[in-house]
Amino acid sequence: MKYFNIAIDGPAGAGKSTIARKAAGLLGFVYVDTGAMYRAMALHVLREGIDPANEAAVSRACGQADVSIRYQDGAQQVLLNGENVSGLIRTEEVGKTASAVSAYMPVREKLTELQKKLAASENVIMDGRDIGTCVLPQAPAKIYLTASVEVRAQRRFKELAEKGTDCDLEEIKRDIADRDWKDMHREHAPLKQAEDAVVVDSSQMTIDQVVEAILAVAREKGLKTAAAAQPAASEA
Ligand code: C5P
Repeated sequence: MKYFNIAIDGPAGAGKSTIARKAAGLLGFVYVDTGAMYRAMALHVLREGIDPANEAAVSRACGQADVSIRYQDGAQQVLLNGENVSGLIRTEEVGKTASAVSAYMPVREKLTELQKKLAASENVIMDGRDIGTCVLPQAPAKIYLTASVEVRAQRRFKELAEKGTDCDLEEIKRDIADRDWKDMHREHAPLKQAEDAVVVDSSQMTIDQVVEAILAVAREKGLKTAAAAQPAASEA
C-alpha cells in the first residue's frame, strides 16, 4: 500500500469525527467522513419521497444519485448531484434514514468503491462503521472508538442544548441505542470491531487524550514522520 491509511470505526456519537478531524490536521492527512456520504444518500431518498423501508426503490434511486466529496479549506464537503448538501445532513431524521438505507448492499457497494478510491490516492484517516472490516481491511492502523451510551447521549444532549434545540436525554439515549443495534445487526457490513483494531473507550477521556491515543496507535503501526508529509487532496 502506497499510502498510510488509518481506519476509525465505532458507534454513533463516540466522537469519531471530532477526533479524526483533529488527528488528520496534526498529521497532514485527509479526513474522510463516510457517514456524511450515507447521509447524503439518505437526504436524496427523503427528497424523492421514497420509503426508506422499500429496498428496491431506495437502491434504484441511490444507483442514480451522484455522491462525491471535495475539500474546502481542509474541510470535507459532500455533494449530492453536484449540490453541496453538507449543511443539510446533520439532522436526526437524516441520521435515522442513513442507518436504514446503509443496510442495503447496492448503496454500500457504491459508496465503498468511492471510499476505496480515496484511500488509494491519499494518506487518509477514514471514519465510519465498516472501514477496518470492509473498506480498508489492509489499513495498518485500525481503531475501534467507543464510549458508553450514557456518555454519548450526554454529549449529544449538550451539543443540541448549546444550539438551542429542545431535547430530551432519555429520548436521545433511546435513539442512540436503537441506531447502534441496527448498525450492529444488519446483514451487510455490520458495525463490529476488526480483529486487529485497537479499542479506545473515550468515556473518561478528553479529546486531546483520545487524539494522542490514536496517534500512538499509528506510530506503533509504523507511521513515520515522512508518511505524514504527503500533500492533501483538493478534490475527489
Ligand atoms: O457516522 P454517522 O452518524 O454520520 O453515520 C450515519 C449512518 O450511516 C450510520 O448510523 C450508519 O448506519 C451509516 N454508516 C455506515 N457505514 C459507514 C458510515 C456510516 O453504514 N461507513
